[in-house]
Amino acid sequence: AKTMRLDKLLAHVGIGTRSEVKKYIRHGWVEVDGAKAKSASVHINPETQVVLYKGEPVIYKAHVYFMMNKPQGVVSATEDRREQTVVDLLEEEDQVYDVFPVGRLDKDTEGLLLLSNHGGLAHGLLSPKRHVAKTYEATVDGPVNGKDIEAFKAGVVLEDGYVTMPAELEILSSGDHKSETRLTIYEGKFHQVKRMFESRGRIVVFLKRISMGPLKLDPDLMPGEYRALTEEEAQALL
Ligand code: URA
Repeated sequence: AKTMRLDKLLAHVGIGTRSEVKKYIRHGWVEVDGAKAKSASVHINPETQVVLYKGEPVIYKAHVYFMMNKPQGVVSATEDRREQTVVDLLEEEDQVYDVFPVGRLDKDTEGLLLLSNHGGLAHGLLSPKRHVAKTYEATVDGPVNGKDIEAFKAGVVLEDGYVTMPAELEILSSGDHKSETRLTIYEGKFHQVKRMFESRGRIVVFLKRISMGPLKLDPDLMPGEYRALTEEEAQALL
């Protein structure tokens, strides 16, 4: 099991800032396994050790949920021999939670990615069987029109013969060399959005996911930034 510094754990659960909780430890207000904690740097396994602050148990959250605005150039994995992963982008204090990406985005795709250590999540609302809506902003290399809207609504045949489920295409702008669209799909085949546009003779040059089921990408998150889900956002997923 992973361990974390006592001051980090206390700061994490909201008892105070790192410097405040160090003071509390010096004041003798923190106990670990029945003894007064002597140092802020002692390593704790929050799953197995009992930590008290002013006599009250410090509740360690077993499950955490982060929304990230995934930047281009990192892979949706926990470990990779060569590439930087989305987990590498987490602050050290958040890495103790052993989160993994719930669902995947291509290396060159940006946008909403959920990270959690809640293994059961994939069987809940976000299970592929539930056909959760996923909305993408896709920029393509040429014009799009009402025929593309109709084709995506009817389902298109991908190069491997797979017929896609009905999807909703919105055209934000159309130009000879560049068009901007919003596409909502209800499944998640490998490279699905790119392959759907390829079936219409278009190449996706920029792709960003902006929502997934009830979860919407926080517009304040710059690529590479992330934050914990709010209580409401987390509840909506469970
Ligand atoms: N469709 C794609 O082609 N790529 C993604 O990353 C997500 C959906």
